[in-house]
Amino acid sequence: MGVPISQMWTVASYVLGQRLRGRRKYPLVLMLEPLFRCNLACAGCGKIQYPAHILRKDMPLEDALAAVDACGAPMVSIPGGEPLLYPHIRELVEALIQRRKYIYLCTNAILLKEKLEAGWFKPTKYLTFSVHLDGGQHEHDFSVCRDGTYDKALDGIRKAVDMGFRVTTNTTLFDGTDPNAVRSFFDEMMDVGVEGMMISPGYAYEAAPDQANFLGRQNTNTLFKMLLSNRKKRWRFNQSPLFLEFLMGRRHYDCTPWGNPTYSLFGWQKPCYLLSEGYVDSFDELMQDTAWHEYGHASGNPKCANCMVHSGYEATAVDHTFTSFNGLWGTIKAMVFNRYASPSATQDLEAEKSKPHGPEVHLVQLGMDVDALKRAKATEHAAAKPTANVA
Ligand code: SF4
Repeated sequence: MGVPISQMWTVASYVLGQRLRGRRKYPLVLMLEPLFRCNLACAGCGKIQYPAHILRKDMPLEDALAAVDACGAPMVSIPGGEPLLYPHIRELVEALIQRRKYIYLCTNAILLKEKLEAGWFKPTKYLTFSVHLDGGQHEHDFSVCRDGTYDKALDGIRKAVDMGFRVTTNTTLFDGTDPNAVRSFFDEMMDVGVEGMMISPGYAYEAAPDQANFLGRQNTNTLFKMLLSNRKKRWRFNQSPLFLEFLMGRRHYDCTPWGNPTYSLFGWQKPCYLLSEGYVDSFDELMQDTAWHEYGHASGNPKCANCMVHSGYEATAVDHTFTSFNGLWGTIKAMVFNRYASPSATQDLEAEKSKPHGPEVHLVQLGMDVDALKRAKATEHAAAKPTANVA
């Protein structure tokens, strides 16, 4: 099992408590971004494009803690930027542990080994290092645009696991991903000893330099079906089993962007972690003044059309688990019968072995009409039938 019982119990009792109080919109994970500065500059990132004077800024510790208290979510994810560059990270983690928050410190792990050796953190069930790894060495180093990053991250993971810390991986997948290589990566992460893995399709940030390689919905279902069918027993995912079924095209969910509210240097971000459509000063304003009906797949908002990311849809799956018999039963079944045998996925994986993947698909043959290829691909997507809904 990828998520410890104590954490599951905390989440379950929190969700039920919210529902008993009649709250249908409630936060589950606070996305707390105390800085945008990073020691990498990945092509798929929408955060490091800010001007230098913004990248130099750090959130005052008291602002970060006030946001945590105002939000009240039982889990706090600390992305960024790179949180290990935040000057108050140790005090922030300490204060969150005192508040019994489950922390996911999302790091590229370049500095992790060094900080652990310096005694910055102590192992506790409340603190998880969620290490950003976009696949194996070849794929990850290409994705983050720097050689050697994968090996450095692995050194940090091994050190953290040896010291008894909770460690998960956090993998964002893009068009052109080699599903066979990702399945090998899952094996490798289990060998290294991480507690569980988190996976999500990438979101097409308008600000990201690489716009050509984000996944559409149909491609997302196809890719995750290949990845997660015929699952090995040893693979553990630190995610809702129903969210993984959603990625495989076995369930239909809509987004609950209020489930992962974002607080950054600019304030409370409307409506979600991915879109920046204005900021407000307080959490109450965010919940009350955001036009939530304008977002999510069913809204028809083109910015949400291809989005299936965990920060939008996993809270929906968790709510489904703990607030309905159907959801609870579906989750139990997904945990017990978790192999998802599929001969067609096996065939698709076989076929993928003869296709180009990874960095190679970014190379363009001289004289090739790239626009014509893109138009053909768009026509192919439009002709694809919608995925079956078994929810
Ligand atoms: S669908 Fe995606 S982009 Fe749209 S509100 Fe939800 S998380 Fe944000």
